Amino acid sequence: KQLLANRVKALTPSTTLAITAKAKDLKAQGKDVIGLGAGEPDFNTPNHIIEAAYESMKAGETKYTPAAGTAELKNAIILKFKDDQKINYQANEIFVGSGAKHVLYCLFQAILNEDDEVIIPIPYWVSYPEQVKLAGGKPVYIEGKESNEYKITPDQLKAAISEKTKAIILNSPSNPTGMIYSRDELQEIGEICVEKGILVVSDEIYEKLTYGDNQHLSIASVSDQFKKQSVVINGVSKSHSMTGWRIGYAAGDQSIIKAMTNLASHSTSNPTTTAQFGALAAYTGTQQPVEDMRVAFEERLNKVIDTVNAIPGFRCLKPQGAFYLFPNVKEAATACGFETVDDFATDLLEQANVAIIPGSGFGANDNIRLSYATDLASLETAIKRISTYVENHY
Ligand code: PLP
Repeated sequence: KQLLANRVKALTPSTTLAITAKAKDLKAQGKDVIGLGAGEPDFNTPNHIIEAAYESMKAGETKYTPAAGTAELKNAIILKFKDDQKINYQANEIFVGSGAKHVLYCLFQAILNEDDEVIIPIPYWVSYPEQVKLAGGKPVYIEGKESNEYKITPDQLKAAISEKTKAIILNSPSNPTGMIYSRDELQEIGEICVEKGILVVSDEIYEKLTYGDNQHLSIASVSDQFKKQSVVINGVSKSHSMTGWRIGYAAGDQSIIKAMTNLASHSTSNPTTTAQFGALAAYTGTQQPVEDMRVAFEERLNKVIDTVNAIPGFRCLKPQGAFYLFPNVKEAATACGFETVDDFATDLLEQANVAIIPGSGFGANDNIRLSYATDLASLETAIKRISTYVENHY
């Protein structure tokens, strides 16, 4: 008999984790590797959040909570939606889970039947296709073209919709491209989804990280109809530098939220109680650290974007949010003698001691992803190394 279930045999391992593991190996061998693979802020969690979590434990808040989160945290999330986006949710429309990734997992398990189609724009965050497939769904890809800032168009969306389309995933600001959908773009996409009865899964985890004049807008805030048609995913991981705490949430139709809660009640139960108290402090306390981190990211972005574009064969649109650069490097890879950008990325790690993520993991074979969630000095050294490497191999 076969040891493993078919559903896990089809899982592809995360490319992000593979490169990170290799970079760690090289570091352990004494090599001075700089990692630009990180998907998390390099700052510690703000101190008042840590203190609040510690105090909650000392006060005896160390037990189970309701499966979808405490009433206090849900209330803080409701207020956050009201303040930031002017969207009104009730407590039974909020599900708090163990990070946005887990919340998305529960959502797909809750809404997908066998062979239901989910439209996933390319470039995509690595876990979307795998999560959809694990729930029995079928990813249908549309390519956001570089000429359209890696965003999909309404025509592309219309062409991809079939009888079986259940949902579309929007991720704005985007990991890996950093691009943001405008109000007009959201309006057009939302109208199509309302007309066709397609659920919009709106992953807004990078909401707080936007630069220059760019601003995040939730599709659920555009109209009441859009709110009904969408499930918003968010969390404190990126905004408050709390990736390890594992708190994320979904806001949407109460029957979906109830199904997700039932799922969690038989799998994880509540997200860690202490982490919920941390997240509560994150939303009820000062937001200054969030802004300070945003400013630091923006400063780094502005310092390095031109240098990256000056590397021969690199072409990088300026990101509007998140903390990644996503240059098209096909020309550089070819000029350096590589058939694929994956091979180019591997050689960069081995020869130039810089770990970056090949775009293939995001469905974009011509790109690489560089995270600027690292200190400016390391970032500048890493980009210099890439530049020297490319110039020597061109
Ligand atoms: N969605 C996107 C687009 C992400 O980049 C990430 C984290 O990398 C997540 C969701 C998951 O966030 P969390 O750490 O809260 O699970």
